[in-house]
Amino acid sequence: MANVIVLGAGMAGVSLIDRTEPGLETSYGNAGIIQSEAVEPYAMPRDIATLLSIAIGTSNAVHYRPLTLPQHLNSLLSYWWNSAPARYRRISKAYASIIAQATAEHAPLIAEAQVEHLVRREGFRVLHRAQASMDKAVANAERLKAEYGVAFKALSPEEFAKAEPALVNPGAGAIHWLAPWTVRDPGTLTAAYGQLFQRLGGTLAHGDADSLQRTASGAWQVTAADGPIDAEHVVVALGPWSSQFLARFGYFFPMVRKRGYHRHYRAQGMLELPIMDDANSYVIAPMAKGLRITTGAELTGDEPNAMPIQLRRAEEAASTLLPLGAPVENRPWAGVRPCMPDMLPVIGAAPKHTGLWLHFGHGHQGFTLGPATARMLAELMTGETPYVPAEPFRPSRYA
Ligand SMILES: Cc1cc2nc3c(=O)[nH]c(=O)nc-3n(C[C@H](O)[C@H](O)[C@H](O)COP(=O)(O)OP(=O)(O)OC[C@H]3O[C@@H](n4cnc5c(N)ncnc54)[C@H](O)[C@@H]3O)c2cc1C
Repeated sequence: MANVIVLGAGMAGVSLIDRTEPGLETSYGNAGIIQSEAVEPYAMPRDIATLLSIAIGTSNAVHYRPLTLPQHLNSLLSYWWNSAPARYRRISKAYASIIAQATAEHAPLIAEAQVEHLVRREGFRVLHRAQASMDKAVANAERLKAEYGVAFKALSPEEFAKAEPALVNPGAGAIHWLAPWTVRDPGTLTAAYGQLFQRLGGTLAHGDADSLQRTASGAWQVTAADGPIDAEHVVVALGPWSSQFLARFGYFFPMVRKRGYHRHYRAQGMLELPIMDDANSYVIAPMAKGLRITTGAELTGDEPNAMPIQLRRAEEAASTLLPLGAPVENRPWAGVRPCMPDMLPVIGAAPKHTGLWLHFGHGHQGFTLGPATARMLAELMTGETPYVPAEPFRPSRYA
């Protein structure tokens, strides 16, 4: 195949041009779950009670600053429209088709990159603090099992406490999603995929993607630290920076920029598997650096908060489950989930330029989906029939 420049070395792009080393941005800071259970993407809530709790600031799932709302308005309206039940069902069918491939596409990369020691194949658990919430979750899990074959086990408080001996409060029990894989150092896994790419003959270059231009001969060119690189094809895999980058080429891809935070804690008793605390909308995961808490979605301005309210609330809630210990970092890490308003990633040819390919917008599950959608893109680029129908993800839906 012809030469290809891939811009961005997160999980979606682990490859050629990045301003830093692979896996140092969003693909570093996530909860590390390869979410084969996430067959339905995160819809925008449409029920009055949830919307009210977001509006008055009591929800820990979503936080916003009113003054910054106008900058999110267009994307949020489109997100709302796509979250209507009939549309959401159609979108979920497409989403489930790529989620179904996630672990199978990671598997050979994990083996060849020799990072088995970072991965556990035992799922993760969602804690429910109240019986009513647990009952609702069991009913929903039964539905997902019937519709999509998602495997789960409902754990009683006693079973949950036995599985996680460090917990002082197992609540009303947990849903154990059995099929997902969990990674104790997502940044290192992403970097290892980048190293594998180099071992297989790829080159990693440092440079600013904004230098991309078309040469007189029609090739794409970026300027890397060691000089210009030309290629017939270029892939934009710049995660949350993708829409802004593409504006220069006349494309408008609205993005719902959901910031999330994380921080590590030196807990005494480590968890076996990650836990999502449903009532408080955070994940606590055993990681190489300690217990990592990751937060829900923040819709605010360009700058992350020094001490975000969602993290403070998550710390308080997690402290009722187990002793967290002192924080490892002085300041929390922050990154942005690159969410498209229709909840589907953008995969395929850019409508107005030959040789320009798009691979971004993986939202809440980019760590899960990177390899699965990269295969789809590679098949589109080489003229093969994609192994999963690519039509729902085509970039021209935003043209
Ligand atoms: C708190 C949190 C928890 C999450 N938990 C999970 C989870 O458990 N499971 C899951 O599947 N997903 C999770 N996600 C989502 C997931 O992390 C993202 O969807 C995914 O990392 C996006 O990968 P990416 O490669 O598209 O973007 P990135 O990883 O951000 O990569 C983009 C790359 O582009 C580079 N770049 C940007 N601009 C330029 C430029 N001008 N020049 C050169 N390089 C540039 C950056 O340096 C970066 O390396 C979570 C996200 C957050 C924030």
